[in-house]
Amino acid sequence: MLKQQPFIAEFAIRILIPSMLAACGIAALLFYIVSAIFDETNRLDSEYSRRSAEAAVGSIRENLAAVIQDNAVWDEAVENSYGKANRQWLDGMWGTGTKDGLYDTAFVVDADGRTIYAAQQGKPFDTTAISYLGGDFVATIGKLPRDGATFGKVSGITVTGGELSSFTVAVILPASEGMRIPDARPRYLVLVKKVDESLLSTLSRRFALENIAVSVNKNQHGGTAVPIMSLGGKQVGTLSWNSRSPGTFLRAKYAKVVGVVLSMFLFVIGILIYTSWRGFRDARSSQAEAIAASMRDDLTGLANRRELLSVLNGCLANAKETGGKLSVVYADLDGFKEVNDSYGHEIGDLLLKSAAAGFAHLAQGTELVARLGGDEFAIIVIGADCADRSRFIARSMIAFLAEPMVFGGRVASVSVSAGIVDLENDDADVEEIIRRADVAMYAAKAAGRNRVHVYDKSLDFKRDENRAIARALREHIDSRSLTVVYQPIVDARTRRIRGVEALVRWPKDTPRHCAPDVFIPVAEEFGLIEDLGYFVLTEACRQAAQWPDIFVAVNVSPIQFMNPGFADLVETTLQKTGLEPKRLEIEVTEGFIIDNAERANNIIGKLHEMRVGVALDDFGTGYSSIGHLRRFKFDKLKLDRSMVSDILRQPSALRLVQGTIAMADALGLIVVAEGIEDENQVSVLRLAGCSQFQGYLFSRPVEAEKIGAFLAPQPLAIAG
Ligand code: C2E
Ligand code: CA
Ligand code: CA
Repeated sequence: MLKQQPFIAEFAIRILIPSMLAACGIAALLFYIVSAIFDETNRLDSEYSRRSAEAAVGSIRENLAAVIQDNAVWDEAVENSYGKANRQWLDGMWGTGTKDGLYDTAFVVDADGRTIYAAQQGKPFDTTAISYLGGDFVATIGKLPRDGATFGKVSGITVTGGELSSFTVAVILPASEGMRIPDARPRYLVLVKKVDESLLSTLSRRFALENIAVSVNKNQHGGTAVPIMSLGGKQVGTLSWNSRSPGTFLRAKYAKVVGVVLSMFLFVIGILIYTSWRGFRDARSSQAEAIAASMRDDLTGLANRRELLSVLNGCLANAKETGGKLSVVYADLDGFKEVNDSYGHEIGDLLLKSAAAGFAHLAQGTELVARLGGDEFAIIVIGADCADRSRFIARSMIAFLAEPMVFGGRVASVSVSAGIVDLENDDADVEEIIRRADVAMYAAKAAGRNRVHVYDKSLDFKRDENRAIARALREHIDSRSLTVVYQPIVDARTRRIRGVEALVRWPKDTPRHCAPDVFIPVAEEFGLIEDLGYFVLTEACRQAAQWPDIFVAVNVSPIQFMNPGFADLVETTLQKTGLEPKRLEIEVTEGFIIDNAERANNIIGKLHEMRVGVALDDFGTGYSSIGHLRRFKFDKLKLDRSMVSDILRQPSALRLVQGTIAMADALGLIVVAEGIEDENQVSVLRLAGCSQFQGYLFSRPVEAEKIGAFLAPQPLAIAG
């Protein structure tokens, strides 16, 4: 599985963060646009309100403009206000008017601004227009026509008694065409009105401004207020109102809607992110699965060769960097091909699976267990104690496979040959490590299978040498230059020859001699044993047919023996050479026979049908007891030289031999003692019940021609 951390980080970098940024960006933009719309609405509204307010100020200023024209352009007004003003008329007219509400104060002033008449709220008013309306007043009058024929009026706003008032000044003129003003200098009517609540509420309605108010506070600028200026251009007050701020209102009103839309938007983004997370994760995990699958052996579920190479590469680099240790166990099943050939692939697969499961269990805590294809396995062990652990694991693997396995009623039995390589202080790379493990494994095979071999440099040498031996052997087989010698086997009582054992020999005239102990395993390893065995069998049968009566024993390697065609081969060879079947004996060793009991018994049965004898060779070197051999129908047991040589020195060895012979007797087996070199051995073994002897004491293996001498009637007392 890919590591979780970088996987999440990658998702964050490639999908999560960009989409979050995009979502936030879009949300912010949306928010900004909506806010801008609301703000713009507010701004437009306040601009509009401001203009209305300015119009309202103008309207306050012009409040009396319409009223004044009716009052000032009037013949009667001219008659009563020019010259010596008629106070009574003035009181009755404009003095009374100051109570009506249209205006609250009235003045009549002359061209110099002097007050001729003043009234306020229906009473005489003892304040002059100049002091009531402020210093600008004279200048205001100065703006009006002075020719006494032209009408003019001026309106303004001023502060009177701490409150704002509007006023209008107009020239008093006759309405009739023919009438002239009595003076050269005109007189003026001044009407003043305090800006009161009723005026303001009228304006509120007219200009659609809420809560219009005025104050003499001059500092209130901007916002929801406009300045009120005097005619002289000075600010005398402020008109303010309540801003409607429709944008703010809208914002408050639509905040929920905007919130819901934004949440929905974020929800959709969330779903999109979640969906892409799942897609991303699925893609990644199928990618990870594909990688894992390419690293796995389908049949056993173990790592495959590819994974082994990659892990070993990592371990090797790490070990070299840190000075750590590393061992590799390289194991190959012995006899797997035979199981596969005779029981079929299904059983073969089951066996591989079981072996794999067992190995994986035994190798718990190691770095890796791999199947390299076929029946080869490898285990990587690291750590300070890896040398000991690797050997322990390899031995456990051998012990594990020593128990035969049963599949659907069939017993399948294989063993394992293991090679071990330890990392040394050289620059061996992965390939070299594997090669060394392979060399060690082959050495284990060559040494007789079912064992562990640790690599050392001499093995390379040995392997090269073995290759050379195999090459030479191939030539010798093809040119039929190998020879066969015969070692007599004598009767224990009469010491007369009963038979011979055929033993193959390297040709004499070659530069390097090679013993069968050396080249037989090479022949097995390099696939030459069947041809070699066939040569010896034919040669021995042909030769023995020349002799009267005596049997000939031929060594057969397990690979040959287990070949399904072996019995047929023996039969045709006997026919071809004319040797009576009962004079032929086949010698086999125990290990492989026991592991493949069913097949071995089959073959033994076929040989027996032909009346060919079968001897169990080298008894005492393997692991099985004689009781174990009861199920095999051997005719003969050959006690190995190692067993025989100990009997004079070790009482326990003698007891073992005695027991073995007694058991063999009970099973009806003839017992032959091999490697007899000494008369004392003869007497002890004869007493124990041994019936035949073979050894240098009687004769070394000799050429066929020399066997004739043993066929003479006298017994073989002394070595020949
Ligand atoms: P083996 O079958 O146990 O053969 C007996 C070996 O013991 C022979 O060695 C023989 O020379 C030797 N020997 C006999 N008597 C004595 C004795 O008194 N003292 C000592 N020290 N040795 C004695 P050889 O001929 O070198 O053969 C070695 C092995 O090679 C044989 O052991 C057999 O396993 C194998 N072999 C020989 N010929 C053939 C063959 O044609 N086919 C096969 N498959 N294996 C063969
Ligand atoms: Ca033998
Ligand atoms: Ca032997």
